[in-house]
Amino acid sequence: MLLEQLGRAAAERAANALTRCRSVAHTACEPHQAISRDGQGTSNSLLSFCSNDYLGLANHPAVVEAFVEGARRYGAGSGASHLVCGHSLAHHQLEAKLAMWQAPYIPDVRALYFCTGYMANLAVLSALGTSDATLFCDKLNHASLIDGALLARAEVRRYPHRDTGALNRQLSASNSPLKLIVTDGVFSMDGDIAPLAELLVLAELHDAWIVVDDAHGFGVLGEQGRGLLAHLGLKSKRFIYVGTLGKAAGVAGAFVAAHTAIVEHLVNVARPYIYTTAAPPAVAHALLTSLTLIGGDEGRQRRRQVAELIALLRGGLEILQARHPKAGWRMINSATPIQPLVVGDNAAALTLSQALAADGIRVTAIRPPTVPDGTARLRITFSAEHTRADVARLLNSLQILAANRESA
Ligand SMILES: *Cc1c(COP(=O)(O)O)cnc(C)c1O
Repeated sequence: MLLEQLGRAAAERAANALTRCRSVAHTACEPHQAISRDGQGTSNSLLSFCSNDYLGLANHPAVVEAFVEGARRYGAGSGASHLVCGHSLAHHQLEAKLAMWQAPYIPDVRALYFCTGYMANLAVLSALGTSDATLFCDKLNHASLIDGALLARAEVRRYPHRDTGALNRQLSASNSPLKLIVTDGVFSMDGDIAPLAELLVLAELHDAWIVVDDAHGFGVLGEQGRGLLAHLGLKSKRFIYVGTLGKAAGVAGAFVAAHTAIVEHLVNVARPYIYTTAAPPAVAHALLTSLTLIGGDEGRQRRRQVAELIALLRGGLEILQARHPKAGWRMINSATPIQPLVVGDNAAALTLSQALAADGIRVTAIRPPTVPDGTARLRITFSAEHTRADVARLLNSLQILAANRESA
C-alpha cells in the first residue's frame, strides 16, 4: 500500500521534471570540484557555481588548520546537549565574539550558537510564537522559517514578497499582543534584500519584533561582513537576528543574536536548542578563525573579489539577453552573490542545467516547491575563489546554449 503510493508519487514527480537527486563530491568545496553520479568509478572535475561558500573559506588552510587544532584540543564530539555537559569553551568564545559583532546594532545583545540554521529558525519561532502571538511572514521566506511557523502555536499571516504596504494593513488589522515580523535578510533563491529599514518603521509603529534570517548576508554584507544590520546601519532592540555559519563563514552552524532576555528564554524553552547534542567544539573553534578572516583584510579582499565577479556576470548576462531575447531567460535585480537566471519551465531549467554539465559546468536547477511554480531557475552563486576566467567560461557556455535554443 505505502510502497505503491510512493511509487505513484515518484512517477508524478518524474513526469513534472521534479525528481531530485544528489551528486557525490570527491574533493573539498571549491569552484573546481571532482564529482560523480554515484560515488563509484571515476569522478569528473566540474566548474561549480552552486555552493553558498561565498568567501571561499570552506577549504581555507587557516580554517582547516583551526578545525584540526580544535579536534586535538576538544576531541571529535561534544558528548551531550549544551544544557547537560556539551557546552565547551570554544562554543562560549564563539558566542561572545558573535555578540560583540552585533552589539552596535542590537542593544543588550547576547548570542546563542546552534548546530544549524534550520534549527535556529525552528527554535526562535517555536519559542516566541506562542498561542497569543501572530507571525507576519514574507511569502518567499526560506523553508526553515516556514517550518518554524508550522511548529509555533501562533497565528500565521503571509504578506506578498517585500510588500510593506500589505504588511502594514495586516499589522493594523491585528490585535495580537505579540507581533513578530519574519523575513529572510537576503532572499535565498532570489538574492534580493528585505526592506529592513521600512520593516523597522512598521515594527515601531505597531510595537512588533523582527526576526531576520541573514543566512546569505552574514559574512558578505556590511562593515567587516557583519551582515545586513551593519549594511543598512540599523539599530534596534526589536531585531532578532539569525546568522548562519555554514555559508559565507565556511564551516557549520548558526547563531541567534538578540536582547539578552530573549536569548535567555531560548536557552530555557527552545526545544530545538535543548534536545539535541551540541555541535563538535572543533566546529566552533574553526569558526573563531573564520570570523577573524571575515572581519580582517582578507575578508575585505574576498568581498571585493565577489563584487567584481557579480558585476562581470551581470554585464555579460545583460548582453546575452539583448542578443537572444527569445531564449526567454530573465535576471533578477540582485546585488548579492546569488544571481538567479529564471527560465520558467521545470524541464527547461533542468535541460539547461544538464547542457551546462555536459560542458563541464555545474549550476543547479532550482524547481518548485523551493521556488514558486513557473519560476524554475538556475541559481548561480559565486565564491571569492572563482576567477574572472571562470565567469567568462560560464558566460560563453550560456551564450552558445542561448543561440542553440533560439535556433531550435
Ligand atoms: C541555508 C539557510 C538556512 C538554514 O541554514 P543551515 O545552517 O544550512 O541549516 C536558513 N535560512 C536561510 C535563508 C537559508 O538560506
